[in-house]
Parts: sequence; C-alpha cells; structure tokens
Amino acid sequence: MHLVPRRVVILGSTGSIGVQALDVVSRSPEELRVVALSAQSAWEPLIEQAREQGVTRIALADGDAAACAGEAWTGGEVLAGPEGLVRLITECDCDIVLNAIVGSAGLVPTVATLGEGIDLALANKESLVVGGELVTALAEATGAAIIPVDSEHSALHQLLACERPGTVDRLILTASGGPFRGRSAAELEDVTVEQALAHPTWEMGGKITIDSATLMNKGLELIEAHHLFGTPYEQIDVVVHPQSIVHSLIQLCDGATLAHLGYPDMRVPISYALHHPERVDVPVAPLDLVALGSLTFEPVDEATFACLRLAREAAKTGGTAPCTLNAANEVAVHAFLGGRLRFPQIAAVIEQTLALRGAKQVHSFDSLADADARARSAASELVAAFASA
Ligand code: NDP
Ligand code: MG
Repeated sequence: MHLVPRRVVILGSTGSIGVQALDVVSRSPEELRVVALSAQSAWEPLIEQAREQGVTRIALADGDAAACAGEAWTGGEVLAGPEGLVRLITECDCDIVLNAIVGSAGLVPTVATLGEGIDLALANKESLVVGGELVTALAEATGAAIIPVDSEHSALHQLLACERPGTVDRLILTASGGPFRGRSAAELEDVTVEQALAHPTWEMGGKITIDSATLMNKGLELIEAHHLFGTPYEQIDVVVHPQSIVHSLIQLCDGATLAHLGYPDMRVPISYALHHPERVDVPVAPLDLVALGSLTFEPVDEATFACLRLAREAAKTGGTAPCTLNAANEVAVHAFLGGRLRFPQIAAVIEQTLALRGAKQVHSFDSLADADARARSAASELVAAFASA
C-alpha cells in the first residue's frame, strides 16, 4: 500500500472512463486522492465532481464553458483552453495523470504529462496512434511510465510483466465484433446511429462505441499495442470473441498461451493502472466459468469491416499515415453521429483521405498537428461531398 495517497489528475473526468475512475478513487481514500479534474465543455458536472472530491483546480478545454464555470464556482480556480489543460498537469504536483480524453485532443496532455516525468494511466489510445514513436521516446527520456487503461492492453501489460525478452512470439487482441458482427456489407448500408450505439458487451462513450461497430477501435488498438509493447505488427493478431471475457492473450516460445479473463468492467483496468504495482479490491463478481459455459472465437471479417484493414495499412506505412487515419476517422464518426454520413461511408472517407494526403515523415509534434489539421480539412470536404451526393 502507498504510505501517502497517490495524487491523481483525471482528464476527461465527465466521460465514461472519467466517471468510472472517480468510482475507483472513491473506494480507495487511503491510496488515491484526486487533485485536479478536466472536461471539454460540461462545466456543471465538472464543478459538481470538484465539490465532491474537494478539488480546487479544474480545467475546461472550451473557453466559453470555462468562463461560465469561473462565474458560477467560487470554490477554486478554473483554467481554460488546451493551455489550461497543460497548466493543470504541470502545476499541480501530482503522481499520476489519467488521460481519459477522447480523440487526438488527448495528445498534448499526454506529452505534457510525460514531459514532466509524471506517470501516465492512458485510456486515450489516440495519443499513441497519432504520436506513437515520439510519445514513447519522450517517456523513455524522462523515465515516466505509461500504464494502459484500455482493457486489452491492460491485460497484455499484466501478461507480459513476468516474461523475459525474446520469449513472446505473438500478442492476440480480442474483439467483441460489435453490434454488427456477422453482417454482410449489404446489410450495413442502412444501419442507424441508434443501432451502431447499441454495443453488445461494453458501455462506453459515443466515439469509441462507433469505432467498435466499424472495428476501427481494434485498428487503433493494434497500433496502440505496437507502441506500448514494441511488438512488430506481423506478431499482433486480432480474433473475434463475442463474450468479451478473454481480454487478450500472449503466445510464448515454449508453446504456452496465457490469457487474461474477467467480466467486462472498465473499473478493473482503471484500478490496475491507478494502483500499479499494487492491487486492491474492485467490486466485481468472480468469474463463474460454469455459468458462462462456453467461450467462442472466430476470425475477423476484414473484407466487410474495412476500417481494420485501413488501420493495418496505415500502421505499416507509418509516418503521418496513422495520424491521418485517426483524424479522418474522428471527422467521419462525428458526421455519422450527426446524421450526415451513412455507416459504410465512414471507411470510405478514411480511405480517400489517406489516398489524398499520402504519408510524410514525422519530425516533431508540430508536424503531427499539421498532418492532423490537413487530414481533418480533407475529410470534412469528403463528408460534405457525400452528404450532397
Ligand atoms: P467520453 O466521450 O465518454 O468522454 C470524453 C471525455 O473527454 C469527457 O470528459 C469530455 O468532456 C472530454 N473531452 C472531449 N473532447 C475534449 C477535448 N477536445 N479536449 C479536452 N477534453 C475533451 O469518452 P470515453 O470515456 O468513452 O473514452 C475516453 C478515452 O478512453 C477514449 O480515447 C477511448 O477510446 C478510451 N477508452 C474508453 C473505454 C470506455 O469504456 N469508455 C474503453 C477503452 C478505452 P465533456 O464531457 O465536456 O464533453
Ligand atoms: Mg479496448
């Protein structure tokens, strides 16, 4: 156990992961204390959380929301904009930052955290997709740890902990297959937003739920795993496992395969990341294998779910390609959720943006910001063209 509570910053505390992280923290008052919170624009829930946690510093990425919060809240300081988020991290003397922001907006806070040598509990997989090499090099340079929160990567982190270099042959990521598993391309033509948001096993924020329906989530996770564990892409497989009980597996050189199992509940990997290397009780039911009866596995249908193939191709191309893939996906998913794009057009927008933008070498975080902006603009034009066709 920690001698004094670990000082935790939660970025994106009003979201799905953020709220579950606050639940984890509230169960460990001796071990964890929240010292700062942030959101994009949900200032009222954020102030409510700050009151409950006794936090006196919050940040809102949206300037108008920050101004509203500043007027309404006398209990502490409100920082504004992306720079406010960075100040929140660098000025609060914390031990660990949980980055639960959605999208590439999470990259700057990831860099600020690691740059200060602060350990990072990372839910924001987009940080690694966009800035993989630079982000991991920064962590290495400052000695900060990146502890994954994504359930598959948390599983892999635990499975790999005892393995010596050279003993791991393959990583196997499991995928639920999403709500449209087993459908043909024709059957995906007219699926609705509501159907795409109805994930069979996990309750998550809107963007990742759509990513799970297109299988882009698994594509992003493939890139995330490559950067977290330094595993070549040829040694990372994806297998569909509809029950979401096996969170991932590793295959070893002596013929053994190790798996990590549990009911799908994000408080388990969140708790693991915030307490690492300790473990504490999490109120989840023990796994009942007899009640489950059977666990099933099947191959991914990459011909129907093109996003996984596009992610794999962008990963192999490297440079700015994963950044472009991610930005185009964010634009396309946003348009789909807003009713401006049909489901199959998400992959089409991404594929065409990648073709238009090509891939360049990444020299700095600035070149990534530039690639991100240019991809967003190209993808937005494609969305507009699809919408008016
Ligand atoms: P949500 O959409 O539920 O929450 C996102 C959070 O980030 C909110 O607090 C939101 O604030 C804030 N936010 C949104 N945009 C910005 C921005 N531009 N700048 C700063 N803050 C912003 O997302 P999830 O919790 O589902 O996902 C968060 C991350 O965790 C994603 O990267 C996702 O892929 C990953 N993840 C999530 C899982 C899950 O079970 N939900 C599982 C595994 C990974 P506001 O409320 O004001 O909009
Ligand atoms: Mg995951």
